[in-house]
Amino acid sequence: MTAPLFPLFADLRDRTVLVVGGGAVAERKVEALLHAGALPMVGSPELTETLQDWLESGRIRWLAGTFHTGWLDEAWLVIAATDDATVNRSVYEAATARRILANVVDQAELCSFHSPAVVQRGLLQIAISSGGGAPMLARHVRRQLETLLDDSLGTLAALLTRQREAIRARFPDLGLRRRFFEKLLAGPLPRLLRQQLDASQADAWLQDLLANHAPVAAPAGSVVLVGAGPGDPGLVTLNALRALNEADVILHDRLVSAEVLRLARRDASRIEVGKSAGRHSMSQDQIHALMLEHARQGKRVVRLKGGDPFVFGRGGEELEFLRAHGIAFEVIPGITAAVACAAYAGIPLTHREHAQSLRLVTAHCQDSLDTIDWQSLAQPRQTLAVYMGVASLDRLREHLLLAGAAPDLPFALVENGSRPQQRVITGMLATLPEVARHHQVQSPALLILGEVARLADALHWFGSAPLARSRPHNISTTCAHLNSRRPPDPFPRRTAWPSTTASSTPSAARQW
Ligand code: SAH
Repeated sequence: MTAPLFPLFADLRDRTVLVVGGGAVAERKVEALLHAGALPMVGSPELTETLQDWLESGRIRWLAGTFHTGWLDEAWLVIAATDDATVNRSVYEAATARRILANVVDQAELCSFHSPAVVQRGLLQIAISSGGGAPMLARHVRRQLETLLDDSLGTLAALLTRQREAIRARFPDLGLRRRFFEKLLAGPLPRLLRQQLDASQADAWLQDLLANHAPVAAPAGSVVLVGAGPGDPGLVTLNALRALNEADVILHDRLVSAEVLRLARRDASRIEVGKSAGRHSMSQDQIHALMLEHARQGKRVVRLKGGDPFVFGRGGEELEFLRAHGIAFEVIPGITAAVACAAYAGIPLTHREHAQSLRLVTAHCQDSLDTIDWQSLAQPRQTLAVYMGVASLDRLREHLLLAGAAPDLPFALVENGSRPQQRVITGMLATLPEVARHHQVQSPALLILGEVARLADALHWFGSAPLARSRPHNISTTCAHLNSRRPPDPFPRRTAWPSTTASSTPSAARQW
């Protein structure tokens, strides 16, 4: 096996680096060198426009012409980025003869140093190398790291750099200092920085810690209320991913998909706290008690909820409880079912011609049905997104029709939105419960009511095409009556209801 490369970070500030070549690749290299404070000297017959600008503003020097060894006189390093293989090779050979490290772009065998793929957060830099043999792999790993590391690491690196001497003075012993750092970084500081503590506040916070908490206070536990989105793991935010990677304990609803849970740190304990339609495996009080118990043990608790934690998710109650018990918390929003189901069913929730407002409604139990202002929900030119409505469709139709809603108001029921088994069922309010029963719609399903629902037939792109009732004659009387009163169809691609047949032909769909 060949020996691995020796990793190093070079201080190139105010040092001359020769770049042979004046094209786009050379320009990228020069830009990186300028970023590191180096003095680039570009050797080439011609320069790109940007290199010209840098030359005119005095940021680079130019050696006009073709390469000769004299160009190496001042150089600490040399990069060859010409499209002439002979020139590139002679640069490498001349540099090697003078013991100057050289890099020929994209030619590993002509490199005595390599440029790694880099993830940068301020002063903190992570360099990734495959030894020159598999640069695509290094880039792939870089992309993964980009999603895991948030921007506050840069602020943290700057803070620790500013306070370096003070920390050394407070803990001259290396062992104690190490312990201090371990506790500091596992404690609330990273979270405080994410919440935009400014530089002077952060300095004051750290100085206070150094002055008052000898040697180091026990790490405080915290709870992060995280929205897991509707199911597709691609809809988890970068902040949610980070929280899942830092978690000690994850308390999750049943609605959270297995694919999302799989993104979490392997050794985090996962506790299902139930809460899917009709099945409450744990009371709200028990969930509160669990959060408190783990946070008080100093753990990082993630309370993971389907969709968004503040949309029909009792997130507010949980935070009030935590506040009352002095537990620190953060909230990471998620993509709520209405937004996700609409997108994955091809239904724009608002549309200049059909709906100017959107209402998120729950039709969960008798109580919520009785307190709803049906008159306002029955108004035209709006879209209703009804959560937890599957069990109440009969009463929902009754209330809406009584309040004056049009019987031919289009609906779309989106079952398992964004998941591989997604189904979309379309029809009209007059026959909503019958159509849903016919297709045996199960929770989780979201009901979208409004003119926009009709667009699903034309705009669907994910999973199967929308289903309508497959045996229309059963309800033909109602439909004939409704169809006779129906306005002209503004969406010509749709065949008139109810002739749309049940079809499960996948569209050119993106599955995950
Ligand atoms: N906080 C969640 C909603 C919780 S209430 C959110 O913001 O999405 C649970 C209801 O959400 C379900 O009864 C269903 O109506 C809807 N829902 C959640 N995920 C869904 C999905 N993947 N597909 C369809 N409906 C979903």
